[in-house]
Amino acid sequence: MSDRDNSGNAKASYVFGPVPSRRLGRSLGLDITPYKTCTFDCIYCQLGRTTNRTVQRKEYVPNDLVLSELKGFLDEIGEDIDYITFAGSGEPTLHSKIGEMIDAIKTMTDIPVVVITNGSLLFREDVRSDLLNADLVLPSLDAATEPAFRAVNQPHESLEVGKIIEGIRIFREAFEGEFWLEIMVVKGMNDQEEEISALMDAISRIDPDRVQLNTVVRPSAEAVEAAGRDELMRIRERFGENAEIIADARIGVRADILPLLQRRPLTIEEISGALEMHRNEAAKYLRELVERGEVASVVHGGKRYFAVKTG
Ligand code: SF4
Repeated sequence: MSDRDNSGNAKASYVFGPVPSRRLGRSLGLDITPYKTCTFDCIYCQLGRTTNRTVQRKEYVPNDLVLSELKGFLDEIGEDIDYITFAGSGEPTLHSKIGEMIDAIKTMTDIPVVVITNGSLLFREDVRSDLLNADLVLPSLDAATEPAFRAVNQPHESLEVGKIIEGIRIFREAFEGEFWLEIMVVKGMNDQEEEISALMDAISRIDPDRVQLNTVVRPSAEAVEAAGRDELMRIRERFGENAEIIADARIGVRADILPLLQRRPLTIEEISGALEMHRNEAAKYLRELVERGEVASVVHGGKRYFAVKTG
């Protein structure tokens, strides 16, 4: 049924983890679509380009196999996990039997069930009713105007952001579980004033329990820039008291260091002074940037300087 990888986690076809998650503690994942079968082709997607951009719902993988594999995992690892999470290598609501799977899991265990979705199909009544039995639904909404939506999410041509927002709102009204809206901020693409105002309007209509701000983390299919720490904090303030930043703090800091170094090479003291952080903390981020090949360290006049790598 399953084996163990080097980290001690179990591996199988449809079930993965448990993985430690900042938002969800120990989460056992269910991957119910083939690789990169999605309604979107987000420019920040960590999985690379979407190979099957579709809005067609069907039984992409056999639901009875998913459930029997999950049962095997639960028997093997016991109940020592915080959530069972539909997430993985595509959009889980494309699976036409996700509702049946959620219902079946609820008869199998008391572990809460989470669906991480891009929210694009919640305008469909069948999708909304499929998710009603989940305990926690985490849709994302990265843009509220059509141009930013097309630029950031590169959706299937039939999808419109206005319709999606309305679908998310209707679902939220009927759903009795926890509902957290995630917004991925991409520098220069959905952080402009017009977009933030449109998102604020959408958020106030949807009324989620939480708004979670994230930014680009790992290398993605296309060159995208993370929002800096100050930028995320500024947006969080606009979104109100139930908004929080869930991006790894280091991402924002790294995004702040690079523009500084683009102007001229700096010493570690100058960098830590400009960003008001301890020297050791600045050293940690600089080490990461050097390891990633984004920053070079050079000694000049007896002092060590850090500079953005060119070419
Ligand atoms: S919705 Fe998720 S899986 Fe689909 S392209 Fe965007 S980030 Fe990737």
